[in-house]
Amino acid sequence: MLTFACAVLAAPACAVAAGDGSSQEEAAVTGAGDILTPAPAGEGFAAWLDGFRARALAAGIAPATLDRALRHAVFLPEVIERDRRQAEFTKAIWDYLDIAVSDERVAMGRAARERHKSLIGRIETEFGVDGDIVLAIWGVETSFGTYMGGTNTIAALATLAADPRRGRFFEDQLLAALRIVDSGQIDPAAMTGSWAGAMGHPQFMPSSFLAHAVDFDGDGRRDIWGADPADGLASAAAYLRNHGWRTGEPWGVEVTVPEGFDFALSGVGVTRPAAFWAALGIRDTAGRVIPDHGPASILFPAGHRGAAFMIFPNFHVIEAYNPADAYVIGVGHLADRIAGGGPLVHAWPRDLRVLTPEERVELQARLVALGHDTGGVDGRIGPKTVAAIMAFQKGQGLVPDGFATPDILARLR
Ligand code: CA
Repeated sequence: MLTFACAVLAAPACAVAAGDGSSQEEAAVTGAGDILTPAPAGEGFAAWLDGFRARALAAGIAPATLDRALRHAVFLPEVIERDRRQAEFTKAIWDYLDIAVSDERVAMGRAARERHKSLIGRIETEFGVDGDIVLAIWGVETSFGTYMGGTNTIAALATLAADPRRGRFFEDQLLAALRIVDSGQIDPAAMTGSWAGAMGHPQFMPSSFLAHAVDFDGDGRRDIWGADPADGLASAAAYLRNHGWRTGEPWGVEVTVPEGFDFALSGVGVTRPAAFWAALGIRDTAGRVIPDHGPASILFPAGHRGAAFMIFPNFHVIEAYNPADAYVIGVGHLADRIAGGGPLVHAWPRDLRVLTPEERVELQARLVALGHDTGGVDGRIGPKTVAAIMAFQKGQGLVPDGFATPDILARLR
């Protein structure tokens, strides 16, 4: 449920936090209750709030809006606890997909597709975005509107804005939330969502709401919070369209890669036309040549022993929602399943343990000590770290798939 916070912050742990079924816990974090029984203020919260009020006034928020909205700006210690836990939390892609694309969620998605057939059809016509992708985002984010989060958004954002870890980002989001209240879209008491400030059916952060939310049912309000998902789903579609969705093209397709594939050609850094990959013998899992859907890359999200995907430009559009491979594959695969497709064909290397954040930092530090460029020693496995791992693997006579494993770390030690 951290979609937009994750998208903007590009936190590696977001892969696992988004829609991981922890929403019930989130629902227990209720801002409304805390307003009636004020939580013990965090250190400096009151002082921060005074300063923020002045900054919000200077930013043009009406005094009446401030009075109305900031009554909800209470410190929620459980939000800080969640924030700290999320930063330390890591999950393998297969564990993530087991939950994001469970049989139950596929069945719920197919039922939602029937229930909202007319709405989805109108959204496809209006925005040119695949309705199953919109349904899948709704499914991964909120289990189809079942868990939208019950935390008051003003309280959640104020708590995180007052916290030094990512205060600046969240203060900007709180200002955006006040602009939403200022424009009369929603009463601040009804402005609820995840503990990290993601709201409603599409789990929009306030800045995404301001930029992308639409009034699809034409009642004059952009209501992403209500029981009727029309505005929320159309807003998710608008978000994807505004980020360059290519109508009628897939996000990606699971592939079978022939023996001897040159892993230097894997990863998002290498894009080639479909014909190039076909000539190398890459096929879909039914053995068919894959049609041209624009520049394509070959992705091994769990290294050479796991499933592989040919990914297309729409993969990168979904990344705008949340940049983690696991999230994008979760959404794309759930969409395919809702549309009637089967499970993934190739197995994941479930015996592998994912590295902890501390181990990822150590891996990078040790690669740097050997003269590699990892693009920073921050625990985030980006393209440069992948390239550094590949170079190290080549030197060790291993398959150079760039996947960070305990074995690689052990060899580096
Ligand atoms: Ca509306």
